[in-house]
Amino acid sequence: MEPEIDWDSLGFGVTPTDYMYVMKCSIGDEFDKGQLLPYGNIELSPAAGVLNYGQGLFEGMKAMRREDGKIVLFRPHENALRMKIGAERMCMPSPCVDLFVDAVNKTVLANKRWIPPAGKGTLYIRPLLLGTGPILGLSPAPEYTFIIYASPVANYFKEGSALRLYVEDEFHRASRGGTGSIKSITNYAPAFKPVTTAKSRGFSDVLYLDSVHKKYVEEVSTCNIFLVKDNIISTPSTTGSILPGITRKSIIEIALDQGYQVEERLIEVEELVNADEVFCTGTVVVVIPVGSITYQDKRVEYQIDENAVYKRIFSTYMAIKNGQLEDKNGWIVEIN
Ligand SMILES: *Cc1c(COP(=O)(O)O)cnc(C)c1O
Repeated sequence: MEPEIDWDSLGFGVTPTDYMYVMKCSIGDEFDKGQLLPYGNIELSPAAGVLNYGQGLFEGMKAMRREDGKIVLFRPHENALRMKIGAERMCMPSPCVDLFVDAVNKTVLANKRWIPPAGKGTLYIRPLLLGTGPILGLSPAPEYTFIIYASPVANYFKEGSALRLYVEDEFHRASRGGTGSIKSITNYAPAFKPVTTAKSRGFSDVLYLDSVHKKYVEEVSTCNIFLVKDNIISTPSTTGSILPGITRKSIIEIALDQGYQVEERLIEVEELVNADEVFCTGTVVVVIPVGSITYQDKRVEYQIDENAVYKRIFSTYMAIKNGQLEDKNGWIVEIN
């Protein structure tokens, strides 16, 4: 049965769907058999590791309904691998790649009626890995829960929208040796203050600098950043404090394929002034242009013209997802 929902007024919020996937395992064991349960609240000990010490990771991906009715995921194995790497850093057991992808498939199928019609949005999928066993001493929890829930969301990008970024030089997102390169839940609440302040001043998001020199560009709160100068596309290298985005990786591969030179390197904040174009990438925003960047009360504005580089790369990326272009790299996983 079709859910009673106005697909045209979707935003990026939680719309409860029918099922969630739940799987548990004890420390030292392996995840094996999970199950679909009706979507709902979960019960936790007040002493759960995740509540007390933040032992948790999340992932974010999208299932899309194509014009031809096919339901597809984009590079889900990459999300599975990223969770595995994050779990190692956070001393947690994690599901193996195939188990992760299978669990995502099951969750999407069980919530099929919540996948928006083609062009109206996507089903956002949120896998979580949490230390749910009780623990008082400062150490890894004795039990872990892997949960996947899903919620329909609108396409973030609206024609003509562009980010107004504020370069944050007081607060940092990630430190050297920290957890900036994994999707640890502990990385996100500290961004609320700088982002809330920036939003109250009319900016759309914050661009963070490296915490050591305070002069190299890192990333925006939930997306990676690229700049274009002549025929060269540059992005900060993912050397520890930057989240290695799967969209970032895909955009680099598409750009190389289209003949652009791509550089992953240190980028000084001052370089942004001379860029022809700046854009951001991430599962939620996909690819979005930056309209202005403000750094120490100086504002740089970017013209977003018809022939912008980001548009060419974005349309190729979307065409692969939509099935209009051949999926040469095996990025698309069809669900049925
Ligand atoms: C998830 C995330 C991204 C984007 O990663 P994708 O795999 O492209 O969605 C970028 N930066 C941060 C901090 C993130 O959490």
